[in-house]
Amino acid sequence: MTEPPTQPTTEPTTDQPVLVLNAGSSSLKYQLVVPESGHVLASGTVERIGEGGGDGGGGPADHAEALQQMQQRLRDDGVDLQAVGLRAVGHRVVHGGPDFSDPVLVDDEVLSRVRDLVPLAPLHNPGAITGIEAAQEAYDVPQVAVFDTAFFSDLPAAAATYALPRDLAREHRLRRYGFHGTSHRYVAGATADLLGRPLADLDQVVLHLGNGCSASAVHGGRAVDTSMGLTPLEGLVMGTRSGDVDPGLHAFLHREAGLSLDEVDELLNKRSGLQGIAGVNDFREVVRRKDAGDDDARLAFDVFVHRLKHYVGAYLAQLGRLDVLVFTAGIGQNSPPVRAAVVEGLGGLGLSVDPERNEARKNEARVISPDGSPVTVAVVPTNEELAIARQAAEVLSRG
Ligand code: AMP
Repeated sequence: MTEPPTQPTTEPTTDQPVLVLNAGSSSLKYQLVVPESGHVLASGTVERIGEGGGDGGGGPADHAEALQQMQQRLRDDGVDLQAVGLRAVGHRVVHGGPDFSDPVLVDDEVLSRVRDLVPLAPLHNPGAITGIEAAQEAYDVPQVAVFDTAFFSDLPAAAATYALPRDLAREHRLRRYGFHGTSHRYVAGATADLLGRPLADLDQVVLHLGNGCSASAVHGGRAVDTSMGLTPLEGLVMGTRSGDVDPGLHAFLHREAGLSLDEVDELLNKRSGLQGIAGVNDFREVVRRKDAGDDDARLAFDVFVHRLKHYVGAYLAQLGRLDVLVFTAGIGQNSPPVRAAVVEGLGGLGLSVDPERNEARKNEARVISPDGSPVTVAVVPTNEELAIARQAAEVLSRG
């Protein structure tokens, strides 16, 4: 039985950190960060959870053991969570389903509702649940759940609805949920700061290009469309995920290649995307091979960019106008060739990059389009951990 979350007995001072936990299916990323200043006291990743475990040296057996390893690492680094005055633990929860549109203080009811959502996110939500339970055991501070789907929870119905029978969609909660929402929201806000303009005035297209990739159209700070759907498989080409395919592909592969539906699911999630075309999912390696003359890597790059252009064009049409196109995450922040290729030929739509600005290696928010461009092109580093810590602090301040 879970104890109700404990409220802090004294008002937190602004240098008390939040521990942010981002539990994937086989990894646990953590960061101890002060929400107001962004000061990071510690961070790291425990990997290979559930892959061997125990004495076999294959990583921790489960998320509870991963949390113990994290605590040991913090101790080794000289970080004492009591002494630093831990304020809260903020958890990234991938799927918030139709219910959660805001971060919430975790209690038994919240946990049970997150559990109900496991069928919608079988790879992601179980890790978050065990992470929350382990953290509840370990830390006598409030636990806050921050949902990856929240930013997209009020997508316009036309953008959120699949053209499926209404009854079936209702019964199985079928809709386009969208993911990476914490990043899209944070980056949209940070872009307004960069441009020195009110978020409410901006029409933005945000491209989150990491291992997972997604695009969003943001009107006045509100998401009006996004590329991921019921699951994080829809949309852009990703490291190992196909993104959009003909929905008829599943039946075809079943009939013609004898694959079960689970095998198709695994194929499209784990063995497709850049990996499927180029044989490698790390974008740096794709670019290295492409530049060395590898035809498959060249094709993977071209398909990746083609799909990106497809979404940029679609969102420009949905928004009706565009102030800024924003690149973020590992590929978006670090790959000048992708950024150049996405806007290539779009000068007629007001989009271009300044080659020198685009090539500059800087880890800060910056404009890469020429001065006076009709549409600004920007690179804005994402910071999901800080965004989660800030949202956790906000929930606490609401009491
Ligand atoms: P993320 O999920 O945001 O950590 O992004 C991971 C992706 O970013 C991987 O595909 C990396 O290959 C890619 N990435 C990281 N650094 C670079 C870089 N310097 N150039 C191109 N891609 C990069």
